[in-house]
Amino acid sequence: MKPVASLSLDLDNKWSYMKTHGDAGWDAYPSYFDLLIPRVLEQLRRHDLTITFFVVGQDAVLEKNQAVLSSLSAAGHEIGNHSFKHEPWLHLYTDEEIETELRSAQEAIEKVTGYRPTGFRGPGFSCSLATLTTLKRLGYAYDASTFPTFLGPLARLYYFMQSNLSKAELKTRKALFGKFTEGFRPLKPYRWRTDAGELIEIPVTTMPILKVPIHASYILYLSCYSELLAMTYLKTALFLCRITGTAPSILLHPLDYLGGDDEKDLSFFPAMNLPGAKKMAIMDRIYSILKDQFEVVPMKEHAARVAKTSQLKLNEPRFATA
Ligand SMILES: [Zn+2]
Repeated sequence: MKPVASLSLDLDNKWSYMKTHGDAGWDAYPSYFDLLIPRVLEQLRRHDLTITFFVVGQDAVLEKNQAVLSSLSAAGHEIGNHSFKHEPWLHLYTDEEIETELRSAQEAIEKVTGYRPTGFRGPGFSCSLATLTTLKRLGYAYDASTFPTFLGPLARLYYFMQSNLSKAELKTRKALFGKFTEGFRPLKPYRWRTDAGELIEIPVTTMPILKVPIHASYILYLSCYSELLAMTYLKTALFLCRITGTAPSILLHPLDYLGGDDEKDLSFFPAMNLPGAKKMAIMDRIYSILKDQFEVVPMKEHAARVAKTSQLKLNEPRFATA
């Protein structure tokens, strides 16, 4: 029997990238869902894959997105909560604001997709004790907001160097993609201890031992230099997952499926020099490599299997303040 792995796609819309980046016009909530979602669903169907889509509440309340968002649950995929406003400084909110943020997203998502989320991923990997406690109180089964890598500060620097942000805006974004110490967090799933009870954490998998990113965007970025290098890197990571007994939970993003020919306003992102068709071909290879070695399930299923294992470690939530 193959070991388990999971796939999840953070459904960050065009406006949320523009907002974090400080670009004007984000508040009209421009969307690329009508192009993106049918493309992703068709490819997943071809590979017979069921995955988790983390949806932003703000997108679910806009009528223009509702039909295409409901197609996700209609195709049998899991829908997770990715906050309402997608502000990567969620951990700076008050407890009341966090509760409102999580609840309003959950209600909007359920209304449109008919799916009540039981999993959460914080925007920009934002995570805090208050968020975890609120999730537990709201009946969530798992959190998926930790990203154990040492390279978070580098990703942040890259993002800021090309942005139009003021000093104050940079300050609220200073924890974007996590601090260096995030790299010391565990790779394997565990339980958080909160005041409301225990909550399962499924971290975004990075390369075992080295803790460098292995999500699809990173593989696509490496493909700009050499596709052979990129695939060798992915295979090495999955080999290390197998020998360390780490069930990989691989992160996907909309821009893994959209090329520079599809989306001209987000050219500040890495790998946007690749055309959409090329990215789709690389994603085909990534799915095939993963499926060869693992049984790929949605995150809810991954969490349910993890919950059954007895040796799940219990961790105290520790987060740097502000
Ligand atoms: Zn996001």
